[in-house]
Amino acid sequence: MLGEEPHPPYERPQLSKAMLHAPDAPVAYIKQASDWSDILAVRLETGSAVIDCDADRRIVATADGRSFAFDRLLIATGTLPRRLAALENSAIEIQYLRNVEDALRFRKSIHDKSRIVIVGGGVIGLEAACAAAKNGCRITVVESEQRLLARAFPAVVSDLVAARHRSHGVEFIFGATVSGSSSDGVRLSNGADIAADLVLVGIGVEPVATVAERLGLPSAGGISVDAYGRTAASGVYCAGDAALQFSRCHDRAIRVETWANAQNQAIAVAGNMIGETREYGDPPWFWTDQYDLNIQVAGDMLEADHIIRGDTNCGKFSVIAMRGADIVGALSVNSAKEMAMLRRVIAADKRPARADLESSAYDLRAALK
Ligand code: NAD
Repeated sequence: MLGEEPHPPYERPQLSKAMLHAPDAPVAYIKQASDWSDILAVRLETGSAVIDCDADRRIVATADGRSFAFDRLLIATGTLPRRLAALENSAIEIQYLRNVEDALRFRKSIHDKSRIVIVGGGVIGLEAACAAAKNGCRITVVESEQRLLARAFPAVVSDLVAARHRSHGVEFIFGATVSGSSSDGVRLSNGADIAADLVLVGIGVEPVATVAERLGLPSAGGISVDAYGRTAASGVYCAGDAALQFSRCHDRAIRVETWANAQNQAIAVAGNMIGETREYGDPPWFWTDQYDLNIQVAGDMLEADHIIRGDTNCGKFSVIAMRGADIVGALSVNSAKEMAMLRRVIAADKRPARADLESSAYDLRAALK
């Protein structure tokens, strides 16, 4: 297993959550470093960036000049943060949040810096804002859309999240981006200047496709795989954030940038690589923790009708997304048990009657029978 980072594999959800909230939170590794070799018989090569791949000779080459032969190859290269061109070579400190070093740097900054501009009101921006606001920093989030998390949340939940942040002193500027910077702060596309000591950019990610490109595979928007994780190159598979796979809930191919997909798609694909037949099509699922809100999303919440179960004013409810008679997505706010049921209903492709779903007295277990 070749990995560019100097660390053994570690969990990423902690980078924008636990590690930012607790100054002494240690890095959560997936396994103890010695377990890879001693228990799993995996030769782990950290600090080994793969820069080339020869499909005919079936060899990958690393930046330090070594080469490794393969019969089957798994590309699990994930993504890197999208860069904001307007802030390259900036006089002010710019940070991104993707790896352990980034998290440690930002954690230190929220103790030292008082005025932080966050570009992007998505999961990274908001989880980072939450940690920084709790530390007493003054935060302004600049979001190019007209609401938060528009890629995954219905408006009612975007508004709830914005209100919770505002109650902790976070300010929002919508419909704008950062167009430049000085040593005092940033200039926005709407002409406004905001004073800042630090800018954190969280405007989405791009798949890392170097190996796929060297193999001649098309990589625009991700590395295409079938339901078994196979790319168009014989014996070459892809799993995780970089893989572009058909999603039944979305009715199109998407890249799924979630912890659960990185784990479960990889398990299925690894099985296929050793001769099993495992079709993978789990509905996408992720969660975000912000202040007292635990929000979970499954499937596709956009371009669908929404049914609200529970009271949005009491901070505990769920939203079901329907396209015709199909449940294509669900979102829960502080309702983890209901989400566990909804994930099962979506995965099993059940179609309970809409009138039943609209009643909060309806027990979702009945839909699974
Ligand atoms: P994102 O796609 O969730 O959010 C990006 C936000 O930036 C969007 O709201 C978008 O409208 C906005 N944006 C885009 N360009 C902009 C611009 N030029 N100016 C201002 N706003 C702009 O991406 P992210 O928050 O950067 O997260 C990156 C990755 O980290 C994703 O893969 C995400 O799934 C992962 N992540 C997941 C979790 C979680 O599951 N809880 C938490 C943190 C990060």
